Amino acid sequence: MSDRPRRRAGSGAAALGIIRRRHSFDPEPPKKRVILVSACLLGEPCRYDGRSKPCREVIALGQRYTLVPVCPEQAGGLPTPREPSEIQPGGGVRSVSGRNVSFEYMRGASVCLRTMRESGALLAVLKARSPACGSGAVYDGSFSGTLTEGDGIFAGLLKKRGFPVLTEEEIDSIGPIRPPGGRHEDGDQAEGAGTDEV
Ligand code: SF4
Repeated sequence: MSDRPRRRAGSGAAALGIIRRRHSFDPEPPKKRVILVSACLLGEPCRYDGRSKPCREVIALGQRYTLVPVCPEQAGGLPTPREPSEIQPGGGVRSVSGRNVSFEYMRGASVCLRTMRESGALLAVLKARSPACGSGAVYDGSFSGTLTEGDGIFAGLLKKRGFPVLTEEEIDSIGPIRPPGGRHEDGDQAEGAGTDEV
């Protein structure tokens, strides 16, 4: 007589049912949540100098989220390359040669706010210190590389509308995805006085 354990009748079919359920085809896999991102952090050459500012940690967020890139300065109609600009102490934004570009910054912020809403993004990860995208600190308008408290025009508008904003230097707060080998591909130094935007 065999000493193998006897299976209960029907247990094989039940097990098969479990297997089928586990391998059943889901026609609508769960969608990834959306994060709005400064395009230059994803490698878009949209900065004032025609270059990008890729950040590996931000790019890695694409493994878990759908990333929607925006560039408020380009969206406002400014060309690339363009003069660096800074928010002035009395309000408004001026380029280093003194051109008033406040309208372009406001228009770009408005366009990108619409993208934020329409994409259903849960937050924005924006470039630190930019006069459009900076959050918490921006250059002080003197083009001397001096920082002051404040937000870029787009980041400030998002905050006023109740959207959370982080810079690329703060994204650990939405879950660390740390690629080996450091923080940014090209460092995070301002390239010229007061022109880190940008
Ligand atoms: S930091 Fe400047 S270049 Fe980068 S997305 Fe914002 S506005 Fe565009």
